[in-house]
Amino acid sequence: MIGLTGRRARTTTALTVTALAASLALTACGGSSSAKGADGKLNVVASFYPMEFLAQQIGRDHVSVTDLTAPRVEPHDLELTAKQVAAVQKADAIVYLKGLQPTVDQAVDQSSAKARIDATAASPLVDHHLDEGAGGGDAHQDKGPAGDPHIWLDPARYAAIAKSVGDGFAKADPAHAEDYRKNTDELVTRLTALDQEFQAGLKDARTRTFVTSHAAFGYLADHYGLTQVAINGVDPESEPTPARLAEVQKAAKDNGVTTVFFETLVSPKLADTVAKDLGLKTAVLDPLEGVADPSKDDYLTVMKQNLANLRAALGAPSTTATPAS
Ligand SMILES: [Zn+2]
Repeated sequence: MIGLTGRRARTTTALTVTALAASLALTACGGSSSAKGADGKLNVVASFYPMEFLAQQIGRDHVSVTDLTAPRVEPHDLELTAKQVAAVQKADAIVYLKGLQPTVDQAVDQSSAKARIDATAASPLVDHHLDEGAGGGDAHQDKGPAGDPHIWLDPARYAAIAKSVGDGFAKADPAHAEDYRKNTDELVTRLTALDQEFQAGLKDARTRTFVTSHAAFGYLADHYGLTQVAINGVDPESEPTPARLAEVQKAAKDNGVTTVFFETLVSPKLADTVAKDLGLKTAVLDPLEGVADPSKDDYLTVMKQNLANLRAALGAPSTTATPAS
C-alpha cells in the first residue's frame, strides 16, 4: 500500500507568479520594448520545452522565443499569468501542443498570431491504455479527452512536428523562409539519426517491457515495439490504486523487468517504493517536459541518455552499443 502526497507545491509557484504579474502591471508604462519592432525578430511563444527547442533550432537568430513553462516546472495543467496571456496575444507565432495545457489552448484561441502551430496537427494524438500486458484494468483512464499528449518522445513524430514549425515560421516571416527551411532540414536529419540509434540500440533487447512511474512513453514504446507498464496515469499527478499496483507487479514479474523508471521533474518516491517492494532497481527515464539546465542539456542529449538507460534496463547487448556523441 502506497500513500502519496501532492507531487509539488504548485500553490507556491502560483502565488509568486501572481505577485510578479501585479508588480509588472504597476511598471508597465516604463519603457518596455515591443518584441518585433525593436529587434526585428519574429516574436515566438512556445508552450513548454519541446516546443521551445523546435522554435529555437528552426528560428535561430530570426526569432525571439518566450517559453510559457519555466525550467523545472512540470507543464501539465500549467496556469498562465495575465502577462503570459498578453504575450500569447501579442505573439507573431505560437508553437504549442493542444490538449496538454488547457489554459494555453484558451489563450491561443484568442490570439491573432500569424502562425498558430499546433503540434497535434502534425502528429495526431492517440489513446494509450495503461493495462498493456496486465489485462482488463479499469483503474486508470487518460485524463484529457484528446488522448495521450506525449508525442514529442517519439523522434519520428517530433520530426514531423519540426516540419510544421518550419512551415509556420516561413508563413509568418516569408523574408527568412529559406533559412527556416534549411534549419528545419538540419534538425530533421539529426532527429532521423536519433531515431535510427533507438531502432538499432533496442533491437536485440532481452525484454521489451519497461515499468515507469509516469505514462509518458506510449508513443516511444509503440514506435520501437516496446511495452510500457505505467504505475501512474498520463497525468503525473494521479495516484495508483492497489489494484493497479498489483497489475504492475505481475507484469514486472512475468516480463523479467529489472528496473523501475522515474522521471526528473517529479519526486522519485513512488518509483522507489514500488521498486523496493519488487526488489528492482530504479533509473531515470526523462519525459523531457522540461530541461533542468538548458546550457548543458537539450532534447537530443536527454534522448540519448534515455536510450542508454533503456538499453541497460532492457538488457540490450553491448555489441550494438551506439557511439557516444
Ligand atoms: Zn506528461
